[in-house]
Amino acid sequence: SVDRLPEIQDSRLRLPVLAEEQVIMEAVRENSFVVLCGETGSGKTTQVPQFLYEAGYASGTGIIGVTEPRRVAAVSMSHRVAKEMNLVVSYQIRYEGNVTSDTKIKFMTDGVLLKEIQKDFLLQRYSVIIIDEAHERSVYTDILIGLLSRIVPLRNKKGLPMKLIVMSATLRVEDFTENRKLFPTPPPVIKVEARQFPVSVHFNKRTPLEDYTGEAEVHSVCRRLRRAFPFRRGNTATDYSDEMKKFKKAKHKRTVSLPRIDLDNYSALPVDEGDEDRLAGIDDEGSDLELGDDAADTEEKADPSLPLYVLPLYSLLAPEQQAKVFQPPPHGTRLCVVATNVAETSLTIPGIKYVVDCGRVKKRFYDRVTGVSSFKVSWTSQASANQRAGRSGRTEPGHCYRLYSSAVFGDFSLFSEAEITRRPVEDLVLQMKDLNIDKVVNFPFPTTPSAEALVAAEQLLVSLGALEEPPRTGRSPLQILYLTIPSSRLSCPISPLGRAMASFPVSPRYAKMLALGKQQDCLPYVIAVVAAMTVREIFEDLDRPAGSEDESSKLAQRRARLAQMRRLWAGQGASLLLGDLMVLLGAVGACEFAGCTLKFCEENGLRYKAMLEIRRLRGQLTNAVNSVCPEVGVFVDCKMAPPTESQVVCLRQIVLAGLGDHLARRVQQEELLDPKWRNGYKTPLLDEPVYIHPSSALFKTLPQFVVYQEVLETTKMYMRGVSAVEPEWVP
Ligand code: ADP
Ligand code: MG
Repeated sequence: SVDRLPEIQDSRLRLPVLAEEQVIMEAVRENSFVVLCGETGSGKTTQVPQFLYEAGYASGTGIIGVTEPRRVAAVSMSHRVAKEMNLVVSYQIRYEGNVTSDTKIKFMTDGVLLKEIQKDFLLQRYSVIIIDEAHERSVYTDILIGLLSRIVPLRNKKGLPMKLIVMSATLRVEDFTENRKLFPTPPPVIKVEARQFPVSVHFNKRTPLEDYTGEAEVHSVCRRLRRAFPFRRGNTATDYSDEMKKFKKAKHKRTVSLPRIDLDNYSALPVDEGDEDRLAGIDDEGSDLELGDDAADTEEKADPSLPLYVLPLYSLLAPEQQAKVFQPPPHGTRLCVVATNVAETSLTIPGIKYVVDCGRVKKRFYDRVTGVSSFKVSWTSQASANQRAGRSGRTEPGHCYRLYSSAVFGDFSLFSEAEITRRPVEDLVLQMKDLNIDKVVNFPFPTTPSAEALVAAEQLLVSLGALEEPPRTGRSPLQILYLTIPSSRLSCPISPLGRAMASFPVSPRYAKMLALGKQQDCLPYVIAVVAAMTVREIFEDLDRPAGSEDESSKLAQRRARLAQMRRLWAGQGASLLLGDLMVLLGAVGACEFAGCTLKFCEENGLRYKAMLEIRRLRGQLTNAVNSVCPEVGVFVDCKMAPPTESQVVCLRQIVLAGLGDHLARRVQQEELLDPKWRNGYKTPLLDEPVYIHPSSALFKTLPQFVVYQEVLETTKMYMRGVSAVEPEWVP
């Protein structure tokens, strides 16, 4: 039985989902699959695991597993449920966890469960799996639902019954329930009526294109709000209602005096899990004081009589910082949370009364054919905007201020697209093949990825040697892409190399490099380079606009320092040809040599959080490599010597083997038809030139052939992570 504190019991009883406990548990008892819909905040995530626990679903050998698409939710929900139940509840995310043999309830990211399926297809450790936040339609969530639709009947057949509960914050669940391939008999859908207070929605009359603040980075908004409504201990308003009136007046003034913000002048701050490392550079509360840009901004007048307690909230924020939003703000202050999408549905912050919605979302866009990616700010969907608005009406009637007009809202798409239709799928296809799902096209996806994306993935995996060659059909790959796709092209079985690659927690191109790394004792270098390549933005963004002259000159100094360090890390002669990857290797080596300290990172233009993540990933990759080929006995050497000349040559070939489809050839003088091709590179799939970025180690060298990590379109199409290729290596 569960021993809950009285105040916890009280707040539980107020949650709408509590009223449905009987109905939910009965449905779970009688069905293998159950779909549960309930507004965000109705208590699904915190309560349903408790219902299951109390009904005995963790009393035998099996435990209760809950998946979340976001790390932040997995961690914070496990803590919350532990607190409510007075019981140990565990979590597991990519690098860390606290699972023990006594764990009864386990929160994890969806990626973690997918990895577990590879080890034990029947998931025998679990008696029930809850797939939470299914409305987010994250790629792993979709795949998990497809897999579990097959695993659960298998378990039942084996006499080890298992349940699947899919939870969604929206009622749009037809992709799951009306999909006969997925569930031949539609699962029951239980709806929890949320006790939602009315929310008044206020639209802007016009939709400003230049001066909205919502998409500006979380930290700069935090900084500005703190400046405008400063809070210092001992300087807090006492009369709350009075303060409120003033706040309303001031709020009006504030909207009028908001400075213009250049919409094209943002650094990438996407919101999805795969890219959340980009968010890591955001300052937390204390550190922005030292930026000293107060002087420059005269448009916002500080009003200390309206103290705001401003907190940032985003995925990679340290857990103790995240937890702050759940605690009451200091007396006499108003809590103001500046959040990315995590606050849309994954986390419910208590007591929110006003929501300001910029209506935008920042997403990574991939071109399916060319692989070029770019970050774009676009309008969100109506469903998301309504979710955001709903956050203000949890505890009393609320208000949502939409920084766009009702006409613009009318043009939003109704729902956001499933992620699986928006990104390359080679990593998923490899994982699925490793599960012996050869005919990926036949997989019961809730939403099937495009045929082009599946073909492209399978072709890449064949070219990397991860899949066996398909029988020849006599047509070129491109013809196949645009004509019909013979099913043989989409059912290549996995090769032994592919199995090794699938066991590495990185995408197939990098996994290939790891698999080849044994040669010439290159493994420690390959591991370090791969770790650095898969963690985004290891260098600080020193090109950001400065708030004051002082800051501007400091930034210039640090830019010069970073440029100098980059040259140093790039080395000379032979090592220079490994290009940007040599710079990464040098940076990782130097940082580890110095003990991976904050001081070293700050002095040398490296992002501390990125370097810590690289360190963890190096450890993890080292373990993974050792378990695939124990004979190499590789270890993380924090005093790693630079690679020798012949090792550099070997590393360049390993990189080429992984990035072979990302080959680019410099356009020769005699081919110059159009001036835009000057210093440009030709790639197989693009009609337009791509370029080496001025910050690249190879910007001055301009080798005849290069491979690159990715093409990112900013002002031009720039290759990132460039390394030189000898002409005689080109196939
Ligand atoms: P749902 O999953 O349906 O969106 P949750 O179970 O996440 O709902 O939340 C139910 C309630 O629990 C919410 O009112 C939320 O404010 C509260 N809650 C969740 N986490 C915490 C926490 N760490 N501290 C205090 N309250 C919390
Ligand atoms: Mg939830």
